[in-house]
Amino acid sequence: MIDVQYNVDLARHTTFGISAKCDIFAEYDTVDDLVQLLCSPELQKVPIINIGEGSNILFVSDFNGAVLHSRIYGIEIISDKGDEVLVRAGSGVCWDSFVGWAAENSLYGIENLSSIPGTVGASAIQNIGAYGVEAKDVIFKVEAYDTVEHKNKVFSVEECLYGYRDSMFKHTQPHERYIVTHVQYRLSRKKQFNISYGALSKMASDIDLTLHKVRDFITQVRNKKLPDPTKNGSAGSFFKNPVVPTAIFNKLAD
Ligand SMILES: Cc1cc2nc3c(=O)[nH]c(=O)nc-3n(C[C@H](O)[C@H](O)[C@H](O)COP(=O)(O)OP(=O)(O)OC[C@H]3O[C@@H](n4cnc5c(N)ncnc54)[C@H](O)[C@@H]3O)c2cc1C
Repeated sequence: MIDVQYNVDLARHTTFGISAKCDIFAEYDTVDDLVQLLCSPELQKVPIINIGEGSNILFVSDFNGAVLHSRIYGIEIISDKGDEVLVRAGSGVCWDSFVGWAAENSLYGIENLSSIPGTVGASAIQNIGAYGVEAKDVIFKVEAYDTVEHKNKVFSVEECLYGYRDSMFKHTQPHERYIVTHVQYRLSRKKQFNISYGALSKMASDIDLTLHKVRDFITQVRNKKLPDPTKNGSAGSFFKNPVVPTAIFNKLAD
């Protein structure tokens, strides 16, 4: 199904909650719906941007174009061999629900990314990260619709050129060339945690550590540390951690 609305205030579609209007706000449930939308005469004439939960975006003025929003949901296991499990999730799935689903299914690899706002689709654009883990560590493939060549494409993790909160999707011409429809992740059945980072290291002495314990701990720390965007408009950090050569790090640490 496709839902199209006109002259929509984006305040409730972004975590900043700041008013800015778009000419068209269109939601789609499937890849076919997305293609149908993009082929419609009214969308062919205007600039397009696809948003998720709007937790890393600020519209500084009205947008004279179409804002698209994925409602492609669903999480499925596509391969289950030995310790490795490949999982495919729709771009509209809430990221934290996906992390919760993985914990429920005893799948390791994304628990450190608990409580990050946003969607599965954006995780592959932004290369989200926290507590020593980044989306690129678990992404296997990214499925996207190419708005230039008008066809579906599947990118390997290498082709996504991931860097620190960066990917090739952020550097395309035109800027919004690819719309992510599904992301495939490589998760693990092997009980292994990455708890060397910051406050998580406190958990090292817990001999009964579980996915749920790590997830709950991170959720509590984040809830204490970060503003609740439903109360105070926010888009998370405004800066990236500086990356410095080891020699400079050692000098600063002295
Ligand atoms: C309180 C708070 C804490 C946060 N903490 C973290 C953190 O710890 N680590 C971290 O990495 N980030 C963090 N963020 C930032 C944010 O959660 C991530 O950037 C998240 O991935 C944004 O997801 P979204 O669905 O809201 O994307 P949006 O904000 O809607 O979009 C972000 C960008 O991705 C593009 N995009 C979205 N979906 C698609 C799609 N399907 N196809 C193509 N392009 C798309 C948009 O056009 C836009 O350029 C935080 C944000 C907040 C508000």
